[in-house]
Amino acid sequence: MAVTVSYDQDSRMIISGVDCDCPCEHHDIGKDIYIGKGLIARVPEYIRKRNLGTHCVLVADDNTYRVAGADVEKALLDAGFSVIPCVIHREHDMLPDDQSCGEVLLSIMRDTEFLIAVGSGSVTDTTRINAERTGLPFVSVGTAPSMDGYASAVAPLLHRGLKIQRPAKCPDIIVCDLDVLATAPMHMIASGVGDVLGKYIAKADWQLGEIINGEPCCPVCVQMVTDAVNALVDNVDEIAAKSEKGMRILIEALLLAGVTIMIIDNTRAVASIEHNIAQYWEMMLVQRGVEPPMHGASVGVATLLVWPFYEKFAGEDLSKLDLDDIRARRMDHETRRRWMAHAYGEDGSKQIMRENPGDFLTWEEQERLIRTAQDRFEEIKAVIAAMPPLEKIKEVMVKLGAEMTPEEEHIPDEMLRCSMWCGKDYRTRYTIMKLIDECGLLGDYLTDYPYEFEGKKL
Ligand SMILES: [Zn+2]
Ligand SMILES: [Zn+2]
Repeated sequence: MAVTVSYDQDSRMIISGVDCDCPCEHHDIGKDIYIGKGLIARVPEYIRKRNLGTHCVLVADDNTYRVAGADVEKALLDAGFSVIPCVIHREHDMLPDDQSCGEVLLSIMRDTEFLIAVGSGSVTDTTRINAERTGLPFVSVGTAPSMDGYASAVAPLLHRGLKIQRPAKCPDIIVCDLDVLATAPMHMIASGVGDVLGKYIAKADWQLGEIINGEPCCPVCVQMVTDAVNALVDNVDEIAAKSEKGMRILIEALLLAGVTIMIIDNTRAVASIEHNIAQYWEMMLVQRGVEPPMHGASVGVATLLVWPFYEKFAGEDLSKLDLDDIRARRMDHETRRRWMAHAYGEDGSKQIMRENPGDFLTWEEQERLIRTAQDRFEEIKAVIAAMPPLEKIKEVMVKLGAEMTPEEEHIPDEMLRCSMWCGKDYRTRYTIMKLIDECGLLGDYLTDYPYEFEGKKL
């Protein structure tokens, strides 16, 4: 049965057709997602429906407080709620870092019953981790269709300058008012679109993981994300015009990506190598004290960078691989440890290796993966053939005035080249770059990104 999305008279999203008997463990969505016009005034009513209580901390930054936070606060106060505002003031964009998380934590009182985040990525993630740690429910009021994290159960945070992912809470209620979303500047909208376009990569990598590693791949989640991203590609003019229809298609795509996270309890359908690379830039720039580009904008650029590798891989003749040569050239465990420390820093690399213990393959494992790729190459090619042409993706991004290149995002050249080599090492999750590397072909694909490590060309 196909997945369909509709809305009830209260603008609450109804998703049907999600029953699935694939080997993934499935969870009920069980959250209230509202998308529509004039919804800010209805936030108190939505909260009452779920009995979240009346005492809350409202988290926003200067900008999101101005755009919607003050109105949400007023609606709550008028409805008899008690609100502690936690408006995070920064000279530059607020980041979901130790300090922001601490500000929210210290705003929470013993009688606080729920948290309400009014904002997009940073505000929501900062609130999300506090909701997780305090056990309080939380409400998310979206202010921009700029990223797919609203419905996520994972918080990307900055901890001591390192980008980390922490399991956290999905909001009990998500409210996206289309009029509020349409006030978002075009670069934020383009960022949201970039984040959604990356789903084509995430989908392909998930299917590669299924072929190569027998990783369970949920067809319902794949369909949900594919339908949403296809709708977006087909309606880019509506999005560029910030029409009601365009805003709805974009926010639906961003939220449905999150719904897949609720269903299977991981981000497999929404993030893969394109996110690894984008997150690497963000992490490294923050460590240098430089403000990173918007998350989705980087994801869009990274998507364009890795896309040609799929097309190239589909044209390989894997029967010609020389296994002895691949074995002789592979990085030994100790060198890999030093490589990780080089790429991610001493602390960062330790954390990554601790959280991804299976990431270093023995030769026996690598050989098995190569043989599987050889045996099942037709299936791999079919996965790649199902991706739309790269030109179509570029067209969408051009129409929205999205950033298209790492230069436009001010990614230093050295950082860019390193990210292309180390993006695959950020987590165990299977990606085309791992496949290319396991087949001993990474050097052929990364000739445009020459990189030396310990005095040797990689
Ligand atoms: Zn994302
Ligand atoms: Zn499934």
